[in-house]
Amino acid sequence: MVGSQGPQPPPFPMEPTMAQYQAISKHPPKVCQEPHLPQGHLQPQQHRLLVARLHMASLAKEMYRMGQAPLFRCKGPPTSLASASGSFPNSGLYGSYPQGQAPPLSQAQGHPGIQTPQRSAPSQASGFTPPASGGPRLPSMTGPLLPGQSFGGPSVSQPNHVSSPPPQALPPGTQMTGPLGPLPPMHSPQQPGYQPQQNGSFGPTRGPQPNYGSPYPAAPTFGSQSGPQPLPPKRLDPDAIPSPIQVIEDDRNNRGTEPFVTGVRGQVPPLVTTNFLVKDQGNASPRYIRCTSYNIPCTSDMAKQAQVPLAAVIKPLARLPPEEASPYVVDHGESGPLRCNRCKAYMCPFMQFIEGGRRFQCCFCSCINDVPPQYFQHLDHTGKRVDAYDRPELSLGSYEFLATVDYCKNSKFPSPPAFIFMIDVSYNAIRTGLVRLLCEELKSLLDFLPREGGAEESAIRVGFVTYNKVLHFYNVKSSLAQPQMMVVSDVADMFVPLLDGFLVNVNESRAVITSLLDQIPEMFADTRETETVFVPVIQAGMEALKAAECAGKLFLFHTSLPIAEAPGKLKNRDDRKLINTDKEKTLFQPQTGAYQTLAKECVAQGCCVDLFLFPNQYVDVATLSVVPQLTGGSVYKYACFQVENDQERFLSDLRRDVQKVVGFDAVMRVRTSTGIRAVDFFGAFYMSNTTDVELAGLDGDKTVTVEFKHDDRLNEESGALLQCALLYTSCAGQRRLRIHNLALNCCTQLADLYRNCETDTLINYMAKFAYRGVLNSPVKAVRDTLITQCAQILACYRKNCASPSSAGQLILPECMKLLPVYLNCVLKSDVLQPGAEITTDDRAYVRQLVTSMDVAETNVFFYPRLLPLTKSPIESTTEPPAVRASEERLSNGDMYLLENGLNLFLWVGASVQQGVVQSLFSVSSFSQITSGLSVLPVLDNPLSKKVRGLIDSLRAQRSRYMKLIVVKQEDKLEMLFKHFLVEDKSLSGGASYVDFLCHMHKEIRQLLS
Ligand SMILES: [Zn+2]
Repeated sequence: MVGSQGPQPPPFPMEPTMAQYQAISKHPPKVCQEPHLPQGHLQPQQHRLLVARLHMASLAKEMYRMGQAPLFRCKGPPTSLASASGSFPNSGLYGSYPQGQAPPLSQAQGHPGIQTPQRSAPSQASGFTPPASGGPRLPSMTGPLLPGQSFGGPSVSQPNHVSSPPPQALPPGTQMTGPLGPLPPMHSPQQPGYQPQQNGSFGPTRGPQPNYGSPYPAAPTFGSQSGPQPLPPKRLDPDAIPSPIQVIEDDRNNRGTEPFVTGVRGQVPPLVTTNFLVKDQGNASPRYIRCTSYNIPCTSDMAKQAQVPLAAVIKPLARLPPEEASPYVVDHGESGPLRCNRCKAYMCPFMQFIEGGRRFQCCFCSCINDVPPQYFQHLDHTGKRVDAYDRPELSLGSYEFLATVDYCKNSKFPSPPAFIFMIDVSYNAIRTGLVRLLCEELKSLLDFLPREGGAEESAIRVGFVTYNKVLHFYNVKSSLAQPQMMVVSDVADMFVPLLDGFLVNVNESRAVITSLLDQIPEMFADTRETETVFVPVIQAGMEALKAAECAGKLFLFHTSLPIAEAPGKLKNRDDRKLINTDKEKTLFQPQTGAYQTLAKECVAQGCCVDLFLFPNQYVDVATLSVVPQLTGGSVYKYACFQVENDQERFLSDLRRDVQKVVGFDAVMRVRTSTGIRAVDFFGAFYMSNTTDVELAGLDGDKTVTVEFKHDDRLNEESGALLQCALLYTSCAGQRRLRIHNLALNCCTQLADLYRNCETDTLINYMAKFAYRGVLNSPVKAVRDTLITQCAQILACYRKNCASPSSAGQLILPECMKLLPVYLNCVLKSDVLQPGAEITTDDRAYVRQLVTSMDVAETNVFFYPRLLPLTKSPIESTTEPPAVRASEERLSNGDMYLLENGLNLFLWVGASVQQGVVQSLFSVSSFSQITSGLSVLPVLDNPLSKKVRGLIDSLRAQRSRYMKLIVVKQEDKLEMLFKHFLVEDKSLSGGASYVDFLCHMHKEIRQLLS
């Protein structure tokens, strides 16, 4: 027994009274027994409540004595891809937390009076090149190449005829095997116009790479060799094709200086990669809603022609920078928020007051409504209410209403939510040190539960469960001297053995909780139990919340495939042979329906589940993540967890996850003005009908992507309106409605649609669409659908908006010039084109992560940031300008940080100066740098400080902690790093950017011919 109180007599656990017992059990009273071992030594089919009358330490000893030998041990992190049977080498892939920066506590609320918004003129979407000028044009594949040159392409008389180019025409980086066989490893890049951005002489040119087939012809395949060709085919100049880096830089320069004012309908916001402030003047901030287009075609025919998906990516509880105010809370007292009688839309700045202010016309359904007497106000000479700027709901895009009891379950105001920590104490969890680490951390973390702004302490109550094949509940009532354990071994029919003392206030029960957290690692220290259950654990947490009549969140810390006999028992069904077959989709589908059934019950109770996984081998993430996915929860995965390597990442994620503000028991509804309607939804939630998005929990990182379709003709004059209403319970138990409004333009000219698109949002939508598609369709079919849609979008532009030009030209709309490169990144992502090193679990994990990502997250996830470290002046405090994610851009005399929101690499070139190596790694030469290093030494010199500061700043920008991996040029680990150089061909067969662009060009020409 750990604790300072010395030996004490074993405490007698509280037995539930029969009344309590019956209240929480569906079955007749169960047999109470003398102290007994929990592990499977019970008569089957007998309901048992095992009340441990033992001192807990002696129980643990007993468990050890009776335990089984471990079934397997973690083999430790693999060191190379070849040996990576599990996942990437314990890499911290997919995992982040703003280091040293506590997430914001509950948003301060209040209504300190609204300032009169300034009316400023809208700025037009910048950077638009009128289609008449042809937009950005791509260099010809046959003509002389000059960067940025506008040109006419080759006249291709046989667009379908693709022939292989002569080997000497291939650029570095586009070598391939194929009918021609491996190409010579080296050749001189002598093509005019090829100007590598960085040191072009980097390393050996990529040599022939067997098994490196490309699905698309390499770049210079447009000209037919047999046709008349005045010039030999030339490669497409990588510097002359649209560069993500350039687009991002231009937007930062053009739009990062002025605040984005939301007063004008249909404005395209700055890119997600640009830092900008938002002033709410009547439309929701782009931090809450981003659209694929801010100008919607008036008719469905036009929309069908363009094939541009109409979708909004909504993040209802998005966290804001400190400079921007949280939405005001409006309290209309007992009458509640004012709504349209017909469509139930909430009062918003677009409602039209008429008849001197006595009535208002709904902007969504045109219904005329009476204004209640208490809400009456006179109109000014423009027809605006004179109090418009005093009322958030009449002047702002985003605000909250206090909900009345009518908005509450069972017409009863909710109780504050509860958090239940459910800890796997099987052999693997104990052996890795996870349980000890977690219990130690919880002791301090419990002081940082989410609070409502200004509150002294959190209203959230906490409870604790440990489990392996059986569940152990703990009574941590403040009046107890010691915590008490109750064991439930009847996992087939889960119930909660205690009510009183299970969910407690942290401050009141602090001593008992601390004692419990001290004892848990000791109690199970000698366990040999390797089997776990899973469904009964969530069932127990959900039942506990139900019994306490509150919503809440379960934090599950789980290590292995739940193979113990219990509902939701799983088998290892991983089968890599299914990849690229029609049955591949089964890898993403849950094994049994038990998980969906359970998730549905959890949603009904407002029970959100966050799952922390620590697997050593296959755990079937596709099945285990069903409940988190459907309850608005999060999944974190730490493959082959080792305390020394992974504690920083795990603890950072845990701290952030526990502290973040969550809306509980939420329902979201998106209303639209006449003519369009929401038809499809993507994200982590559950839907029992076609309109209501049910979220047991929703945090500030989660988005819901909504797709719209026409059901009538839209009107250019009135535009189109969206209203997202989220009803939720705050972390203090207050029932609220958060409203976001957005007005969009409507157009009769396709050019207006293409001029007001946002490619980053399009990619977010298309990735989610595709990642859902793999559940039901072969992966290849999903990929083909994306390619076809992209080609149709661009062909429609080419046909209807661009100036007439020869068919050889590839003309891209300015706002979509990055669509091909980004789409290619989606197509070659692990979910849609897995490499040999990616596990089934990792694919399922990424698939569910992307489902609720916002636009900024998908942007960097699919096209990682690559930052050179020694090019910019050492004293510069700003982030160095990024370079394109291609090996050609790497200089072997430099170092680079690469991040994609989940992974973080530091790549060190082989010719980096010795002084730099010394300053950063405290070793004298490149060869002495430890490959795979995850922590840089803390050294007192400007370079070390700068690089470590930059790493901290990158981590702070992401919602999950990114573990660092140091990769040396030419080292084995470099393969991992190269996987993220997304402009290059990938080992899994993904096309290079250049090749894909050429392929896309071909597809477009086919559509146009
Ligand atoms: Zn209405």
